[in-house]
Amino acid sequence: MYDSQNIFARILRGEIPCRKVYEDEFALAFHDIMPKAPVHILVIPKGAYIDLPDFGQRATSSEIQGFFKAVAKIASDQGLSHQGFRSIANTGVHGGQEVPHFHLHLLGGGPIGPMVHRETV
Ligand code: 5GP
Repeated sequence: MYDSQNIFARILRGEIPCRKVYEDEFALAFHDIMPKAPVHILVIPKGAYIDLPDFGQRATSSEIQGFFKAVAKIASDQGLSHQGFRSIANTGVHGGQEVPHFHLHLLGGGPIGPMVHRETV
């Protein structure tokens, strides 16, 4: 069940500040508080979705379209599209998801390195 007290729900409600880079009807984007790249932006849907599968299963077509249109605009506006960037959606325990509100990490501003680093094989 969706936890309405998670940190991104609180950011959406304006209870906690963020360094906002974009907002529209479907999405909010802000800088990650602990950036892992020169540019590290989180894009979240306005709706209450726990993770990527939840978003894919329950969101309406217009929510899904609006979210990804926003992602494309943010990548372009932030200068990430030309040289490229990495997008990550961590899901659940194995995915290392910390905040249970679906979000896409956009990482760029320089080479991001190997796709995945695992401690053990
Ligand atoms: P996850 O591990 O869930 O995919 O990523 C959660 C991300 O949220 C982390 O990169 C973490 O640094 C970021 N984060 C956690 N709390 C806050 C916060 O209060 N504000 C912002 N801007 N980012 C946060």
